[in-house]
Amino acid sequence: MTMSLLSVDQARERIFSHFQPVTTETLPLTGCSNRVLAQDISAANDLPPFDNSSMDGFAIRAADVADAATDSPRGLRVVADIPAGSHPTVSLAPGEAARIMTGAPIPDGADAVVPVEDTDFDNRDAGTSAPNEVQIFKAAKVGANRRPRGLDIRAGEIVLNKGRVLKPQDIGLLAMLGVANVLVYRKPRVALFSSGDELLPVDAPLEEGKIRDSNSYALAALSEEAGAEVVRLGVAKDNPDAVKALLEKAVELDVDLILSSAGVSVGAFDFVKQVIESNGKMDFWRVNMRPGKPLAFGEYRKIPFIGLPGNPVSAFVGFEVFVRATIQRLRGSLNGGRQTVRVKCEEQIDSDGRESYLRAQVYEEDGNFMARLTGHQGSGNLYSLVQANALLIIPAGVKCVPAGQEVNAWLI
Ligand code: AMP
Ligand code: MG
Repeated sequence: MTMSLLSVDQARERIFSHFQPVTTETLPLTGCSNRVLAQDISAANDLPPFDNSSMDGFAIRAADVADAATDSPRGLRVVADIPAGSHPTVSLAPGEAARIMTGAPIPDGADAVVPVEDTDFDNRDAGTSAPNEVQIFKAAKVGANRRPRGLDIRAGEIVLNKGRVLKPQDIGLLAMLGVANVLVYRKPRVALFSSGDELLPVDAPLEEGKIRDSNSYALAALSEEAGAEVVRLGVAKDNPDAVKALLEKAVELDVDLILSSAGVSVGAFDFVKQVIESNGKMDFWRVNMRPGKPLAFGEYRKIPFIGLPGNPVSAFVGFEVFVRATIQRLRGSLNGGRQTVRVKCEEQIDSDGRESYLRAQVYEEDGNFMARLTGHQGSGNLYSLVQANALLIIPAGVKCVPAGQEVNAWLI
């Protein structure tokens, strides 16, 4: 058995180097939120696609109203009415104006829009027809309230890059650009199983000596949030045939990753090791971190396998440290994982020199992020994680962080 002490970064590198993005698929735009783009998107048209008004008002020639003021308005002849969606054919001559609605094309000859508020005609009731003449109370600069064609985006420009996780605003932009179908990476499939004779299903009454399997639920939720499709394989019973059947199910479903929790301490997982090694390989690592020192990594019939520790907080932290970025790699995302923020420790924090991930509540005070640990940090205390909104990261080699010092944190 390989049994080395690895730094967190070494373990991460060893794991990440095994993963490539999964295959791609073309989806209708409505199914693309939170998917990862598998192509660069270039704009097929200018945005805005035509010069248009940003106000309800009157399209005018700025020179005509240069001297306009409330006590000496300038009267213009209204020669057209341009609702949004219409295509004006008029061309304004000096002394002429066109009533125009927000988003409607600016007619030829006009170089500015005066909002209705600056005219004697501010009736915006639906169905009101345009006046024959309008008094303008204010001068307008050339270009005022005009959104020129191509102001935001020029046709041909690359606006979204391959590897980007599509946000709702991106979906809106793709719609503006007429991208009805998008090439995205498919969701990576992650198969989950728990192991341990003490585990009961969630709907079972508690029995003496038993606990409910919470890890597979938390890990499923984490995996889905990270963009994976989850296959739940259930609880591995303590015999090789049962474990084999469960792993074969993962193969049959052609998953991209098998994730388990518990039994990664030496010896404890022998039956899983035996089954995996009959058709692959498995290493046990000791990672210089807290919580969650033991970790298993291998493959079964070419499918990568990550074995996280069993304690619920250790399993969660192991997911954040090793699995979240793995799923990001699989789904083609360029974005590795949680964003790091700097937070100030409210109180002194003692550590044991391992890279530590501590549960904390981060709050804002006078423009700083402050952090306070939640409850006792035992790795079985899931409730302290529920009360936390961050994991503080105390680097390896550090034994004490004095009060007031800043450390990195992941907001969770
Ligand atoms: P192990 O890694 O098997 O030594 O388990 C470490 C601790 O995690 C033990 O207290 C187990 O009961 C607990 N544990 C293992 N699997 C789960 C699970 N699926 N859900 C909740 N707790 C678990
Ligand atoms: Mg166990």
